[in-house]
Amino acid sequence: MVKILTDTHCHTCASTHAYSTIKENAEIAASRGMEAIAITDHAPEIPDAPHIWHFENLSAIPREIAGVKILYGVEANIIDDSGKIDMPEYLLKKLDIVVASIHNPCFYGTKDRADYADTYLGVLDNPYVDIIGHSGSANYPYSHDEVLLKAKKLHKLIEINAHSFIARKQSVENCRAIAQRCKELDVGIAVNSDAHICFDTGEYSHALKMLAEIEFPEELIMNRDLRTLKEYFAPRKTIYG
Ligand SMILES: [Zn+2]
Ligand SMILES: [Zn+2]
Repeated sequence: MVKILTDTHCHTCASTHAYSTIKENAEIAASRGMEAIAITDHAPEIPDAPHIWHFENLSAIPREIAGVKILYGVEANIIDDSGKIDMPEYLLKKLDIVVASIHNPCFYGTKDRADYADTYLGVLDNPYVDIIGHSGSANYPYSHDEVLLKAKKLHKLIEINAHSFIARKQSVENCRAIAQRCKELDVGIAVNSDAHICFDTGEYSHALKMLAEIEFPEELIMNRDLRTLKEYFAPRKTIYG
């Protein structure tokens, strides 16, 4: 089974529903032989997010801890039907990894739509968004093809979120369908832990099991190592590493 050396979606105790420090995350990542982790705490609109100063001061964090490279990031909230996110441009432009996800408590767009594809297309128009987070959510279904192909064209990634297989079980079938369509359309993905505690950093087993079942091609897992990730993003941006 493929080993994924760069986890581009991890939380720390700066998000109060997560429980570990950056040092603890990095030490677990090191013990698993990983190259890099992105610290992507929640952007301010969700109730348990850190203050905006958290993102202003990310450069205080060493670029390498326990031999693991640290990428500065955010999990931004998609807050309306147009795909607007809750982070200002002056911060977005400083970040290595911007994941954008819909979270129920701070999505103020229309609920119960049959198709949120136009919302995700709007998110992809934001030049700073790198990865669409946990889009398998059962509450926000979308017709896949146009979104996946636009992500590919713009050198962005669709996330397969390992945490969803435990915390959002109703989205598991959607995750499989999205991965299957990425395979068919040759669209790159990021397999992420979305860890909320250090022990889950680099823990992707449920996601990898599903990807193995559908014979997902390893070469489309763009965070399998840091060099591959950097090269994939290179037409749009330079990330640390
Ligand atoms: Zn999320
Ligand atoms: Zn998350």
